[in-house]
Amino acid sequence: MKKILMIVPAILFCLGIMAQEWHADLTDKWEPVPPIVTPGNGTTPPSDAIVLFDGTDMDQWEKPNGEPVGWKLEDGAMTVVKETGAIQSKQSFGDMQLHLEWRAPAEVVGESQDRGNSGVYIQNRYEIQILDCYENPTYVNGQTGSVYKQHIPLVNACRPPGKWQMYDIIYVAPRFKEDGSLFSPGTVTVLHNGVLVQNHVTIQGTTENVGLPLYKAHPLKQPILLQDHSNPVSFRNIWVREL
Ligand code: MG
Repeated sequence: MKKILMIVPAILFCLGIMAQEWHADLTDKWEPVPPIVTPGNGTTPPSDAIVLFDGTDMDQWEKPNGEPVGWKLEDGAMTVVKETGAIQSKQSFGDMQLHLEWRAPAEVVGESQDRGNSGVYIQNRYEIQILDCYENPTYVNGQTGSVYKQHIPLVNACRPPGKWQMYDIIYVAPRFKEDGSLFSPGTVTVLHNGVLVQNHVTIQGTTENVGLPLYKAHPLKQPILLQDHSNPVSFRNIWVREL
């Protein structure tokens, strides 16, 4: 009797392990195998990224009218030259992971929206604001990391002027029906210096300085545009992973 009392728990234990293995067999997936990507260090590109600027030249960029860029290339960075206009990537993108680094001028000039203002316009029409918001109050739906005039950032993660800052942006492009009406809006997630500032928010339409955003149909892929807001903001390490 004593022996039976010892054997029964052992059998139950073994059956338990077999059941676990059987269950794992049903739920383990071995395909599709994710591609191998060699990661960067958070600022340098991973092996499958499209590099749009690595500090050596501005060949991947042009003015929206196709003319050469008017910005200056210096010390591995490209910097806005006042009133030469925005620049945009020659290549167009839809859904993507975008990394870029920017730096507001070390010398503080102006205040509110006139201090270290630029912007990254996803698909050349949806602006993620770039602004020196380090101890620089402004309207909150236009501060650093805002989807300009649409979404206030969750926090202010600004570094002091003159320091390099990072944006990591996950973007899903809007889709349009054949008649030009909206099928599904765009969404965006933004990390500023590694801190989440936009959590999968819905883009309401094209960025407007005045008035409400409005969707107008456009091709699935469009260029990335960097704004000239008359302040010498610099950029470096720009790369994209298409999704
Ligand atoms: Mg701006």
